[in-house]
Amino acid sequence: MSPPLTGKVALVTGGARGIGAATCRELAELGAEVVVTDVLDDEGSALADELQQAGHRAFYRHLDVADEDAWSDSVAEVIARSGRLDTLVNNAGIGTFEDVEAETLDGYRRVIGINQVGVWLGMRAVIPQMRAQGSGSIINISSIFGAVGGFGGSVAYHASKGAVRLMTKNAAIRYAKEGIRVNSVHPGFVDTPMVEPAKGTDMEQAILANTPMGRWGRSEEIATVIAFLAGDGASFMTGSEVYADGGWTAQ
Ligand code: NAD
Repeated sequence: MSPPLTGKVALVTGGARGIGAATCRELAELGAEVVVTDVLDDEGSALADELQQAGHRAFYRHLDVADEDAWSDSVAEVIARSGRLDTLVNNAGIGTFEDVEAETLDGYRRVIGINQVGVWLGMRAVIPQMRAQGSGSIINISSIFGAVGGFGGSVAYHASKGAVRLMTKNAAIRYAKEGIRVNSVHPGFVDTPMVEPAKGTDMEQAILANTPMGRWGRSEEIATVIAFLAGDGASFMTGSEVYADGGWTAQ
C-alpha cells in the first residue's frame, strides 16, 4: 500500500527548523512532495537536500510570508514545477514577550505582519489552485495563546494567533463546498529555537508548572497532528481547532 500522502504536493512556511522542519519530514515520510520555504535559506536548503537524499521529493524556495508578491511567485513556481498544490501549512511565526504597555507600534506591526497577515496572504495565494483542483487542505498554526491569555505578556503574539484561529473558521465556511478544508493547530509549549530564550529561566519553570504533562512538547508531536489534517483521514474536518498542548487548555 502506498503511503497516505502519495501524489500530494505540500508547501510548508517556516519549514527550515522547529515545528516546520518536523512537519516537512513527516509529510515527506508519508509520501508527499514537500516544498520547504523559509527566510533561512541555508537551513531550508539543507533540509530539502536531506529529504532528497532519503529518497523523497522535496525542494527549497525562499519565501517571506509577509511579502505579497513572493506568495504569488512561489505558488506559480510550485504549479509550474509540480502541477498541483494540495496542502498549505501556514507555520512561519515569530514571538515577542512585551505586554500591552511595553509593546511598540513597530513590534506589534511586525508580529501581525508575519503571524496574521502572512497566513491570510498564504490562503489567498493557494486557494485559486485548490479550487481549480476541487480539493485542498490548509493548516494554520495558531497556538494555545490564540485561545487563552497565558501569562499576560506577548500581546501582539496573542492578537495574531487569535486572528489565525478565527480566520481559519471564516475561510473554512467560505470554501466548505469547494473541497477545501481549513483547520488550525494549537500547540502548547514545544522545544524549538523559538523558546530558547526561556530555557533555564523562571519562565521555563512557569511553563512546565502550567503544563499538566509537566514537560516540553516535541516538534514531531505537532507534525503528526498537522500531517493527519493534511490527509484524507480528516476529510470531514474543517474549521476545527486542534490542540496538542500537554493538557494546557484543559485547565
Ligand atoms: P522557530 O522559530 O523554531 O521556527 C519558525 C520558523 O519561521 C523559522 O524557521 C523562521 O525562520 C521562520 N520565519 C520567521 N519569520 C518568517 C517570515 N517572515 N517568512 C518565512 N519564514 C519565517 O519556531 P517554532 O516553535 O517551530 O514555531 C513554528 C510555529 O509554531 C509558529 O507559528 C509558532 O508561533 C507556533 N507555535 C510554537 C510554539 C512553541 O512553543 N514552540 C507554541 C505554539 C505555537
